[in-house]
Amino acid sequence: MSFSATLLKWYDAHKRSLPWRGISDPYKIWLSEIILQQTQIAQGKDYYLRFIERFPTVHDLASASEDEVMKMWEGLGYYSRARNLHYAARQIVERGDFPTELDDVRKLKGVGDYTAAAICSMAYNYPAATLDGNAYRVFGRIYSVEYPFDEQKGKAFYTSLANSLLDTARPGEFNQAIMDLGATICTPKNPHCDECPFCDSCGAHTAHQEHHFPIRAKKPEVKERFLHYFFILHDHRIVMHKRGDRDIWKSLYEPFLIETAQSADLTQLHHPWLTGILKSHCVIRQHGKNIRHVLTHRILRANFYSIYLNDLPAILPEDYRFVPTEELQRLALPALIKKHLDWISDYNTTET
Ligand code: SF4
Repeated sequence: MSFSATLLKWYDAHKRSLPWRGISDPYKIWLSEIILQQTQIAQGKDYYLRFIERFPTVHDLASASEDEVMKMWEGLGYYSRARNLHYAARQIVERGDFPTELDDVRKLKGVGDYTAAAICSMAYNYPAATLDGNAYRVFGRIYSVEYPFDEQKGKAFYTSLANSLLDTARPGEFNQAIMDLGATICTPKNPHCDECPFCDSCGAHTAHQEHHFPIRAKKPEVKERFLHYFFILHDHRIVMHKRGDRDIWKSLYEPFLIETAQSADLTQLHHPWLTGILKSHCVIRQHGKNIRHVLTHRILRANFYSIYLNDLPAILPEDYRFVPTEELQRLALPALIKKHLDWISDYNTTET
């Protein structure tokens, strides 16, 4: 039996039931693909259902405010996806309909080669294989691919291999079958080879080398960042700002922040406005010390303080403003901040 026949026979019997399967609506497929970039299905599914309920058509998504879309995305991470999704919805509405050609789909903001191929193969039966982490693992193991998948030569090899194996009559299901096999059987650790349809022909399994594949060239560099957050409160209001460009959490809201190059305690933080505040009559408490929060390629170390001001400060730092604490529920906040809001007794009071 051919590779694709073996794969699709297994898929027909074992495919996962997911809300975006068995549909050909490119809007819904696109939405699911953007949500599933860097997100596990178990987590992404609920977000997908909430987005479809709130934004049943691309027009609904395009006419929403960025703050609302960011709020809906809250907790999912990689927030540039939400901004791009919103922008692309407006691109689609402007052009009149969802693009049907691969090159035009690729032009939507936030859509790369993988996502364009996934959308077109599922929505339009376009014959293009998709390569994500699951696919590199499955192909890399079955064919004992010695090229690193994160280098140009390896990428080209995998692309050509996957396209040569693709079932051109069922390309969308072929791609999803590879994904399911990688997610449920050919898992990164302890693959279930005895349940795999390629058990007898898999190069890695035959050689007991499952963990050697797929081969990666570079180890991603992990950076540490040191963040000091101040929940500065006065009369049921808190000092907040919206994060700007070219950094994590763009367009999300956060309290007053000082970032340092190394670990630092309160006495080592130098900020003229904060120094002025601390000289005035206020109560300061530390709530969390050196809290570890992991993002892809970054480890954040965060300290949290609350400051209750007796008097309203004459000025606020640039881009900061007072926000009523009851409004915090409506703002999109990084998970790290959201997790620690219950330290603000003022916030709790408004919640109950
Ligand atoms: S036999 Fe094992 S290693 Fe090979 S593809 Fe199947 S699950 Fe993966």
